Amino acid sequence: MLRAGIVVTGTEVLTGRVADANGPWLSEHLREAGIDVAHICVCGDRKDDLLAQLQFLTDQGVDLIITSGGLGPTADDMTLPTVAEFADTTLVFDAALEAAIMDRLRPMADRWENVDWEALRVGIAKQALVPARGQILDPVGTAPGAIVTAGKVVIVVLPGPPHELQRMWPAVVRAEPFRGLVGDDAVAIEQTILRLYGITEPDIAETLRLAEEALGSLAALEITTCLRRSEVEVVTRFEPSARPAWERLHEFIATRHGAALFSSDGSTVDQVVAALLRGRRLAVAESCTAGLLGARIADVPGSSAYFLGGVISYANDVKIGQLQVDPQLLATHGAVSPQVAAAMADGVLTALGADIAVSTTGVAGPGGGSPDKPVGTVCFCVKTVAGERADLRVVIPGNRNQIRERATTVALHLLRRLLQQ
Ligand code: ATP
Ligand code: MG
Repeated sequence: MLRAGIVVTGTEVLTGRVADANGPWLSEHLREAGIDVAHICVCGDRKDDLLAQLQFLTDQGVDLIITSGGLGPTADDMTLPTVAEFADTTLVFDAALEAAIMDRLRPMADRWENVDWEALRVGIAKQALVPARGQILDPVGTAPGAIVTAGKVVIVVLPGPPHELQRMWPAVVRAEPFRGLVGDDAVAIEQTILRLYGITEPDIAETLRLAEEALGSLAALEITTCLRRSEVEVVTRFEPSARPAWERLHEFIATRHGAALFSSDGSTVDQVVAALLRGRRLAVAESCTAGLLGARIADVPGSSAYFLGGVISYANDVKIGQLQVDPQLLATHGAVSPQVAAAMADGVLTALGADIAVSTTGVAGPGGGSPDKPVGTVCFCVKTVAGERADLRVVIPGNRNQIRERATTVALHLLRRLLQQ
């Protein structure tokens, strides 16, 4: 299998001020082209560091290196000369390219105030310096990309701004050096995602161990498990010839964890719930999540077809005034109680004319916990006008943000389970 390394350049990425969008994007598109990414390296805008990364990846025996960033007109943009040096070629001035970049810039520059045309010319002249031995990729912004080879390694040099890099990608895939590498009948590395809820990472580790015993070696499958948003994700990558092995594994997991396995096609709980809600009218009554649940539901495109809205009933007065929660219930059981959660769901069903409602009420902390209601205690209730109902009281671990965020996941799963009955 072909292997690639990605070098993301930029001090802003190295310091964490900008989150790397290019490494993951390239990684996914290389997978589709049948190329496995071995490393994503990040380095600052420093020549020696970039040279070191190129050397490291070459020593690892990768077939392809892709760089992102450092193609701009200023002095701190030095990727192309550095790659040219590494590939043992020189830079030559391309007059036609200079004219083309100027043509792109002129309409923009005409609209700017106080344009320093001399500085602009110097910058453009720099961007029109291209490797003598290599191929140029037409600029999407003002910077051209390039493909050069260093020994047996193909190096693709792309701009840093994600939209520019992404728009240049089709030209990379069409370019002769890339096609020469992957061949005409490249097949994607397959990737599947299973999502489970209500089991732990040790549970899935045990299942994978048993699967290995029962099914024989799983060596053809690259399996990673991780805990994300209170769900266990099992991501498996394999070459197309290993699909039967994957199908046996999928069946094994589905048999052992039927109730927990809620998605085998990569869809999220948000999408699963969205599909189940079609034709219904949902309302939310939120106390501790205070809008996070509604926001998550509305994140799904098309949610207006089933999501009416909700009441952020954070204060008891709002629970009483807007949701008709009986003050006596609050006094007897407290705001964080199954009784109040149920009354909130009833209240919002009526107030919004919904046919299904979800409520959340809990102690997000850091203060406010008590021995019988420690920080993290959250009560949920799902109710429908037809009288179906699901209640849950859990203690969610984590800090305030995590508790509120995880509570939205718990609420979505409670909703899903009721809708799937
Ligand atoms: P420019 O001509 O804009 O200088 P460039 O090719 O030189 O382009 P950089 O200078 O490395 O690219 O980055 C320009 C901007 O693009 C960064 O300030 C950042 O906002 C964005 N950017 C660069 N690399 C990344 C990345 N890996 N992930 C997300 N954003 C990035
Ligand atoms: Mg730059």
